[in-house]
Order: sequence, then C-alpha cells, then structure tokens
Amino acid sequence: MFHKILIANRGEIAVRIIRTCMYMGIETVAVYSTVDKDSLHVQLADEAVCIGGAKSQDSYLNMENIISAAINTGAEAIHPGFGFLSENAEFAQLCEECGIAFIGPKSEHIKAMGNKSWARHKMIEINVPVVPGSEGEIKNLEEAIKIAKQIGYPVLVKASAGGGGRGMRIANDEESLKNAFNTAKAEAINAFGDGTLYLEKYVANPRHIEFQVLCDKYSNVIHLYQRDCSIQRRNQKVIEEAPGIIDNELRDKMIEATLKACRAINYENAGTIEFLVSGNDFYFIEMNTRIQVEHPITEMITGKDIVKEQIKIASGEKISFSQAEVVVNGYSIECRINAENPKHGFRPSPGKLKLLHVPSGNGIRFDSLLFSEYTVQPFYDSMIGKLIVHGENRDEAVKKMRAALEELVIQGIDTNQNFLYMIMNNPDYIKGNFDTSFISLKLERLLEYDDNE
Ligand code: ADP
Ligand code: ADP
Ligand code: MG
Repeated sequence: MFHKILIANRGEIAVRIIRTCMYMGIETVAVYSTVDKDSLHVQLADEAVCIGGAKSQDSYLNMENIISAAINTGAEAIHPGFGFLSENAEFAQLCEECGIAFIGPKSEHIKAMGNKSWARHKMIEINVPVVPGSEGEIKNLEEAIKIAKQIGYPVLVKASAGGGGRGMRIANDEESLKNAFNTAKAEAINAFGDGTLYLEKYVANPRHIEFQVLCDKYSNVIHLYQRDCSIQRRNQKVIEEAPGIIDNELRDKMIEATLKACRAINYENAGTIEFLVSGNDFYFIEMNTRIQVEHPITEMITGKDIVKEQIKIASGEKISFSQAEVVVNGYSIECRINAENPKHGFRPSPGKLKLLHVPSGNGIRFDSLLFSEYTVQPFYDSMIGKLIVHGENRDEAVKKMRAALEELVIQGIDTNQNFLYMIMNNPDYIKGNFDTSFISLKLERLLEYDDNE
C-alpha cells in the first residue's frame, strides 16, 4: 500500500479524498494555486505545495508542476479527483512514465473512452445500444446535414471531447443545424482545445441512468448498481439519487451491457457508464473514467468507500468485496450546492462567507470545501458542496433532504439552496415523475415568474 498520495485537485473532492487517506493511514500532499493557499484541502493535508497562479491553466492543469510536486515530496501516487486532469490520457501516461501510480485507469483506457465518438464506436462494435447517430466523427456541415436527414430531426451536435454539459447543441431543422454545428465547434475548441464533433438523435425527455463500476488488475469487474441523474440544468446534473426508480428487468439488461463494456476494454479502477433511458429502451452515451461528483449516494446505499477501493486497486490489491456482498440498502439523494443566483440566470456568486451552519444527524452527509469566513473563488467551478441524505426509502430520503435544506445556513454569498428546496417540494418530483426536461419545463419558468413580481 502507498505511504503518501498527492491529490491533484481542489475543493470538496480534494477534501473527500484526503479524508479517506487519513483513516487509511496514508500521508497526503495537497497542491494549490496562489488563491487557494488557505483552503480546506491545504489545511487538512500533511503537506502542501503551491503549483501556480489562480488560473487553472497555470496550476491545476499544470502537469509539470504537479509531477514535480509529487517527486519532490516523495508521493508514490496521484489521485486526480474529477474535472481538471482526471480524464487526460497524457497526464496519466506522464505519471506512468515517472513511476508514479495514477489512481484511475491506465492511459490507454482514457484514450479509448475519453473521446466520446470513439467510445460510441466501440460500443457499436460490441453490440451495446447507442443513440442513433453518426458512425464516428463528422467532418463538415454537409456530412452533418446528410446524417441528420437519415436519422431525422431533432438532432444533437456533440463534442467528442465534451464534458460537464458543454459542447452540445440541439438542432430542429437544417437551418438550425448550421448554427448548432458552428457554435458547438467554437465552444468545444474554447473549452477542450478540440473541435471534433459527432451527431446523435435527440432523445425526447429521457432519464439519465448510470452505473458505477469497480475493476481491479485481476479482471474482477463489480458493479455498485445505478444512479438516476435526470434532474439537470443545461445538461449538467443538479440532483442525483440512488438506486432511483427503475424496472428490475430493464436494470438487469443495463447491468449486463455495463459489465460487457468494461470487460471489452479490460478496464481498471472506478468508472461510470452513462445511459439515456426512454420507455424500455436504453442507449449508451458515454463512460466517465474517473470518480464522479455523485459517487457518495452509491456509498450511502452500499456502505462501500469508492475512493478507498480506487486506492487499493491502484496499489495492486483486489477489490475488497465480491459482487454478492454489494447489497442495496435504502435510498440516497444528493443536492449539488452551487455558489450561484438562480433568480439572475444562475450567475456565479463568489465572495466571503459570513455565517455557516451545516446540518447533520442520522443519514446526513455534507461534502464541502466551506468553513466559516472562507472566500469562494471566482476562478473555479461554482459547486461548493454536496448535501447527501440516506433514508429507508425514497419518501424518507426526500423528507430528510427537505429538513437538511431547511437547516443549512450559508450567508454572505448567493446559493441555489432555495431552488433545490423548491424541487424537493414539487409534487411531480415527489412522485418520481420527472426526466431530464424537468427543470427547464417546470422550474425555470417559475423562477422567471417570481422575478417579474
Ligand atoms: P459527473 O459526471 O461526475 O457528474 P460533471 O459532468 O458534473 O461530472 O463534471 C464534474 C466536474 O468536472 C465539473 O466541475 C465539470 O465542469 C468538470 N468536467 C467534466 N468534464 C470535463 C472536461 N472534459 N473538461 C474539463 N472539465 C470537465
Ligand atoms: P457530458 O460529457 O457533458 O456529461 P453527456 O453525453 O453525458 O455529456 O450528456 C449529458 C446530458 O445531456 C445527458 O445526461 C442528457 O441529459 C443530455 N443528452 C446527451 N445526449 C443526448 C441525446 N442524444 N438526446 C437527449 N439528451 C441528451
Ligand atoms: Mg456525462
């Protein structure tokens, strides 16, 4: 087992990883940008190294500085968290070349699945259903128009390198396809430095269902069941739940597809296979080759620590439990707490905290970077915490989340707390009657209405 791990990330996920290292008896090295000097992950780690300026490009994306920090502190492994370098095959390879264990899959797995149109291709090859669309990348607008005609409008133009809900545009006809093609390309070049696009049929009102997997170096492939992440805003998850409401027969088919996908690429470490579900049909959309934001809800219902397993797998150990030992217990919901103002177009709201009160109690977990008088930085993602509850069933989990949101106090900055509370009180949400269109159809209008009063 490793003696020392460097965490190449910031915020709540860095804190979350450090906490598991602490109880496993592993020393930790935090890295930070100049503006993150006083942040929680820096304070909790045994050592901390400044890796550059505020901009991600200069620090959390600065591969050389991060590798140097690992070498200089004698860290044997790097955990990349999510976002930043977590799905960067070049970084994983650099770690491999420097003899540092990358706590994640091999660079070849990231290469195979990181490019979404290649991943799509691979799934077609092994007969995992994908959304109807282009075979692979589309080279130009003419090709896009041709394929769109075949599959029928509306279509979705997607970036091969996309992530975090960016680089995706819907087109309802040939005219809007032109626009969608160009804006998706520009956004993808800007966000990912890669403007490659592919095309999918736009699935009307689907649910987003994903499966958590763990795979070790001994060909053990274990799944930890599913999460429903259908409550989204602009294709970005807002609320997630596990195990979700899903027919067992459909679930078993999806588990089979998930395991098949992992085995086909001989995958290693933690990963997630994401699907869209429409009626009784399901379609692969992508694989995330890293720990995900919403992993805690799976931890709540299975009692397993996914980060602990990631570390064990990377150090060459076997997964510490069998498939039969993964038993779903109760129901869990996560709300992403963002520093943003829903009444003003969800604009980010950085600034200094005045008062903070965190709910706790039976089955309540708050993974966060916050502490009193902390200043939320404008340079990074606006997610500042995740409120997670665990109840005996969905009904109890919803009620617990409501109570926890009532108790949570974050003063000094704007957050989406009331917006989340509104969802927890929405009759359709309570009934489980929702899909990915829920927020845009039902809630944003409500907000506009409020604003005009
Ligand atoms: P999850 O799949 O874990 O729910 P998200 O899609 O919400 O994750 O992304 C998690 C974090 O990683 C967000 O901060 C998001 O902005 C960032 N992220 C995801 N994919 C990429 C990517 N390809 N490039 C840069 N950042 C990304
Ligand atoms: P990202 O890499 O940004 O996470 P995904 O491909 O996982 O992108 O898609 C994110 C979300 O966008 C999905 O959960 C879904 O809500 C929506 N989406 C993606 N593809 C389609 C599609 N073909 N039809 C309808 N919605 C889609
Ligand atoms: Mg996704």
